[in-house]
Amino acid sequence: MGEAPPLQKRQIAFTFDDTPRGNGAHFTGAERTEALIAALESVDVKAWFFVTTNNIDREHNNGAARLARYVEAGHDLANHSHSHKWYRKTNIDEYIADMDTASKALKRFSSIVPYYRFPYLDQGRSIEKRDVMRQALRDRGMSNGYVTVDTYDWYMAAMYKESLRKNHKIDMDMLRDTYIGSLMQSIEFYDEISQKILGRSPKHVILLHENDLNALFIDDFAIALRKEGWEIISPNEAYTDPIAHHIPNTLYLGQGRISAIAHEKGWKPSDLVHEREDENFLRAEFLKNGLLPEE
Ligand SMILES: [Zn+2]
Repeated sequence: MGEAPPLQKRQIAFTFDDTPRGNGAHFTGAERTEALIAALESVDVKAWFFVTTNNIDREHNNGAARLARYVEAGHDLANHSHSHKWYRKTNIDEYIADMDTASKALKRFSSIVPYYRFPYLDQGRSIEKRDVMRQALRDRGMSNGYVTVDTYDWYMAAMYKESLRKNHKIDMDMLRDTYIGSLMQSIEFYDEISQKILGRSPKHVILLHENDLNALFIDDFAIALRKEGWEIISPNEAYTDPIAHHIPNTLYLGQGRISAIAHEKGWKPSDLVHEREDENFLRAEFLKNGLLPEE
């Protein structure tokens, strides 16, 4: 009788898009950066910040100093375009130039990783357009900073901002539990699809944004994940998963890599979007939990 094999922990990495974002209703941009760094440090997590370089030199944004702080704290920076365009609505040359502008703007920082995260995860609506960008990335020695778990963290952060603006009194424990519960459900949803299509749990990459909710709760989120048996890994490690080399032959790419692979295998799009990727659903939940004022 051999011993049971050790249980392989499910693994996930954190990435934060649109960095460095402007002032929120809870934190200024500079405060948010410090809060995020402290929270990540407290749970010993290293993340990647996907930078929208047009945000760096915005007035009062302290963008360059904040990016330097992320690097100093041991996190890496990657390319999330200069001006955050929809690829499907932009001509190819202009789109590629925008990515190159961002690469140039990032050169003054250290710890740059050669990954590109498509704004809105939009890789275009034609095979030709999709493949031109795939080639452009290869030509530059860059990889697609794909995600496996899409979330609407940005919408929950926007609702929090709305509540603060309307002076609505919020139970912060309820906000934290609602927020973390929502992210956990999204993760389980995409992991379940992964198990069905790959027969295993891949090294996941979750899409988050540099927003006030993450600055408030990312440490609690990491603790909640570990309690559920997850290991938090670096994105560098996550992108060693075999799915990094599985370039999906589909145009259904806006939900992340797992959904794209499932679609390639014949799954219907309606089965690949979690209910929590819906503004009305989340709004109803926030209302029910007293996190928004009654209308
Ligand atoms: Zn973005």
